Amino acid sequence: MKAVIYRRERGLVTEEVPAPRPEDGTILVRVANTGFCGSDHSLIESGLLPDGTILGHEASGTVAGWGSAVSGFTEGARIIVRPTFCGQCRDCRAGRPYLCRAGRRTIGIGDLPGAFAEYIRIYPQMAIPVPEGVDSRNAAMAETFAAALHGIHTSQSRGGSVLVMGGGPIGLAAVRLLKLLGFTPIVLSEPLPEKRDLGRRFGADHVIDPLREDLRRSTREWTAGIGFETILECSGAAGNIPEAFELIASGGAICMISILFGSIPISQPMLMNFKEFRFTGAYSNTHGENRQCLAWMAAGEIDARPLISDLIPLEALPRLYRERIHPGKTVKVMLRIGEEF
Ligand SMILES: [Zn+2]
Ligand SMILES: [Zn+2]
Repeated sequence: MKAVIYRRERGLVTEEVPAPRPEDGTILVRVANTGFCGSDHSLIESGLLPDGTILGHEASGTVAGWGSAVSGFTEGARIIVRPTFCGQCRDCRAGRPYLCRAGRRTIGIGDLPGAFAEYIRIYPQMAIPVPEGVDSRNAAMAETFAAALHGIHTSQSRGGSVLVMGGGPIGLAAVRLLKLLGFTPIVLSEPLPEKRDLGRRFGADHVIDPLREDLRRSTREWTAGIGFETILECSGAAGNIPEAFELIASGGAICMISILFGSIPISQPMLMNFKEFRFTGAYSNTHGENRQCLAWMAAGEIDARPLISDLIPLEALPRLYRERIHPGKTVKVMLRIGEEF
């Protein structure tokens, strides 16, 4: 089968490799679409990936076979793939299966090869069925929406004013979900005009270019001088955190959905005292959050497809990576791998 593989000296390359076989307790999946994730980019640039890694975890596809110890699946069943968890450890019991250290298995960034390939092998608990009326491209982006939904859940906010910092796929997904959940006003802060336009289309009441406009002054105007009740950091820009400390309302919640690996200068930590806001981060998402986003897609409440800036065949990924993904010119790159549904 065809696969895009990470090679230490050459980066991403297309190669012909043996297709996986559905042994004992696993399922063989024919991949339809795989989304390229920001974390794939970070991993490729980190220099930490082992030679020969196949990345790709935002996959939709159909069941193509299973091992002798598996039952309950039908050939051609439409699924997306999410990590497994043990269900018994401290984090699993506390409702944080995405932090499970004991039994977490995943494709692309874990112990199983990923979906920048024509076929993948998964464990049965990793399969989430795709409801009728959701196509394979939307399905492959359910996880992007689930990540945003998980950030909203983690903030524990139920409504009111909200600022989304960063209009990448997760920031834009957050805007759409906040609209669906009744938050108002919704403000998107994003430097690129194309992404601000998508933000408006997805339900933002106001959009702002943080590099050219005065976010502090606009915040006073849009929130009657109170500040935002919720701020979701989705850009990965470290400077946004101290700024969020200033823009948050008292009793509000800041949630970092993007992952910041560098250090953050917090110049006014006492704002945490004076405002008693909650400051938290969100990691990954649950099967339930993925199911919810798929159900909203089936009901026509979410259409992720406008996020796709580049729809390409698998073998075009290495070149697109160099020319558009690495220089930051894409929104969502979607790979067309097998037969789409
Ligand atoms: Zn991802
Ligand atoms: Zn666990």
